[in-house]
Amino acid sequence: MRGAVLYGPRDVRFEAREIPTITKPTDAIIRIAATCVCGSDLWPYRGLQATNGPSPMGHEYCGVVEQVGSDVRSVKPGQFVIGSFFASDNTCPNCRAGYQSSCINREFVGTAQASLLRVPLADGTLVATPGIPSAEMIPDLLALSDVMGTGWFAADAANVKPGKTVVVVGDGAVGLLAVLSAKQMGADRILAMSRHEPRQKLAREFGATHIVTERGDEGVARINELTDGIGADSVLECVGTQESMMQAIRSARRGGYVSFVGVPHGVQLDGEELFYAHVHLHGGPAPVRRFLPELIKLVWDGKINPGKVFDLTLPLDQVAEGYRAMDERRAIKTLLRP
Ligand SMILES: [Zn+2]
Ligand SMILES: [Zn+2]
Repeated sequence: MRGAVLYGPRDVRFEAREIPTITKPTDAIIRIAATCVCGSDLWPYRGLQATNGPSPMGHEYCGVVEQVGSDVRSVKPGQFVIGSFFASDNTCPNCRAGYQSSCINREFVGTAQASLLRVPLADGTLVATPGIPSAEMIPDLLALSDVMGTGWFAADAANVKPGKTVVVVGDGAVGLLAVLSAKQMGADRILAMSRHEPRQKLAREFGATHIVTERGDEGVARINELTDGIGADSVLECVGTQESMMQAIRSARRGGYVSFVGVPHGVQLDGEELFYAHVHLHGGPAPVRRFLPELIKLVWDGKINPGKVFDLTLPLDQVAEGYRAMDERRAIKTLLRP
């Protein structure tokens, strides 16, 4: 079997990897139908996050179950399944509270850019679709594995409700799908902060009512202007930088909600400013597993098309180009087919 391995900054290779096998009775092996490159993969790719020697890559996946361990009950060979980047038992107190990405038995699933994948805790992690999907539906289902689930969590954690005014900070795949999520949850006005024209277009298609191109303090001023000086009810931070986080907190109304789902890199918050901002803050690694049944149904019924964020599709053996295109912002998100 061959798969993607990151050797160092901007050095992704497609090379032979060991064929995954069942190592615990709770494992499943799935044949990958499609996988993709994540915005978070770009941190180690750019050398901004250390890696421990050559690292297999990929944490977004869907495909057909090939084999299951002797304890697996809820999925069986031949089913099409989707799972999240954290495997979870779905039975511990954190899972039962809806925070499967903080499962006390969680395991990161990080070798998905390959043709076969071992998924631990298969019963808790994998959700089967009602049948074998059409080829056209696969990108929509793949998006649920991370970016759509994360965008949905951003909207859920920021208390998006019908009639609310929502700001989305960040126009990567997660930010764009946070727009789609806010629309689906009935937001009245959705202000998307974006400076890139193709992304603005997709944001509008997903439901953005306004595009704000300013950033930082100017971005905050513009949001203020558009909300009669009050700020937004819900602000969804989908980047993870100091600037984007402050922009989010300062764009929220008093008593408003700020969610943050971009992995923070060097973000520091000032206690006093936070105190006087009077906002609800809620974020973290998205508990995608919580939302999978609902999101699979929305895709299956043709209500949402999150797969539109994939604007580049490549065979898996061209994975290096897939990373390059995203690094150079020539692509929003690269889908890879083994
Ligand atoms: Zn991801
Ligand atoms: Zn758990």
